[in-house]
Amino acid sequence: MALVEAIRKHNKQRVKANYFVHSYGCKQNVADCERICGVLELLGFKQVTSTEESDVIIYNTCGVRHTATARVLGNIGVLKRLKDKNPELIIGVCGCMVEQEGMADHLAKRFPFLDLIFGTNLIHYLPRFLHEVLFEEKKVRVTKLDDEIVEGLPINREAGTSCLVPITYGCDNFCSYCVVPYVRGRERSREPEMILDEIRELVAQGCKEVTLLGQNVNSYGKGLTSKINFAELLAKIDSLPGRFRVRFLTSHPKDCSKELIDTIAESEKICNQIHLPVQSGSNNILKLMNRGYTKEQYLTLVRYLKEKMPDVSFGSDIIVGFPGEGEQEFLETLSLVKEVGFNLLFTFLYSPRKGTKAADMLDTVPKEEKKIWFEKLLKEQELISDEQNEKQCGKIKVVLPEHFAETAGKSVLSGRCENGFWVEFEGGKNLIGEFVEVKIIKATRRSLIGEKIVK
Ligand code: SAH
Ligand code: SF4
Repeated sequence: MALVEAIRKHNKQRVKANYFVHSYGCKQNVADCERICGVLELLGFKQVTSTEESDVIIYNTCGVRHTATARVLGNIGVLKRLKDKNPELIIGVCGCMVEQEGMADHLAKRFPFLDLIFGTNLIHYLPRFLHEVLFEEKKVRVTKLDDEIVEGLPINREAGTSCLVPITYGCDNFCSYCVVPYVRGRERSREPEMILDEIRELVAQGCKEVTLLGQNVNSYGKGLTSKINFAELLAKIDSLPGRFRVRFLTSHPKDCSKELIDTIAESEKICNQIHLPVQSGSNNILKLMNRGYTKEQYLTLVRYLKEKMPDVSFGSDIIVGFPGEGEQEFLETLSLVKEVGFNLLFTFLYSPRKGTKAADMLDTVPKEEKKIWFEKLLKEQELISDEQNEKQCGKIKVVLPEHFAETAGKSVLSGRCENGFWVEFEGGKNLIGEFVEVKIIKATRRSLIGEKIVK
């Protein structure tokens, strides 16, 4: 803390400190970003919305697919112009991409104007890094993974009513295509009391929806001294006082137990919505991906979820064009997608990542053909989503409005209902953050349109 005080003191005298932080990729990165902002605020810096007005710019990066990396590299390149204009500008790049093999050196060589290059799990060192840049005229390049969980970092949350709460960090699953275990380190769980205290505090401050985060929330508890699993953690959260909802991301099918599904079904606060990435509908491909389940096991889970929660909504991720996938395997994926009837599907073209097992697998299908499959899958999912949305018409949903807009002379609120559908309805700004009963009257591809129920 002495260091924080020192920087704060120096800041008053020497640094005009506006900061701009941008996060790429997943919700975990957004949660990390909220901590980066928290630290910068504590140092007395002020958040601004454009790079042009900033004294400190930090990009929190994603390395999961090539497109994410390419976008970040392009955006860093653009910053050189700002640095040329203002040599005192501090530019930093952090997060998953930086931890990839050889990437930190590549960044340092290609963009010598970068002041800070640091990996994941190092946000608590940010005051020290800034001190080194500001007062010791050093360039910071740190990629060592720090596997401890640092509690108590200041958090500058993006929103007050819907909050992100990480429960695990890292991943031990080593799916053969994925860089996450390499760039985020071994899986470790936060102590249950830390999570419960954070949620208690958030609810007291007016938070109405908590999203629990982890690469695989279903294996929560591994390695903790207190014996607890994810279902037990959910039950504890469910019994906390106050009216709020709980969602979670992401559930790995191999660790999705009946106990967990029963707990969700019996709970009051845990939403009947599950993001259960299947990745492929072919057993051959699932094996090559090292996913640890078969198509049949996945479908058994889906049936059990539907039996226990008839209104449950499903989300999933699918990779198209994994090495070894031929038309037959792709058609098996398409058939699984039709059978489950996902409400939300994230589809990705396979992207080889250096250092992963799949990067060395023989990949013979041309990209053009993979793109044709990809388009086919998208079209199929659009039809399924339309059908799923249509089925919601006439139902009464409890919506938590997050956004307000004046469009064509109307005041429109939008937010999610219990099982995750996005709903728009007419209403005043004062309803933001309140639970509102809405009758669904129309479905569009993007959202459901409803009417507020007047009692
Ligand atoms: N931990 C989460 C996923 C994190 S990455 C889980 O296991 O579900 C988010 C998604 O990105 C993955 O589910 C996968 O569909 C996709 N993805 C990961 N690596 C990829 C790669 N190399 N190419 C294409 N898609 C990938
Ligand atoms: Fe990657 Fe698999 Fe871990 Fe998800 S579970 S982060 S896809 S290795």
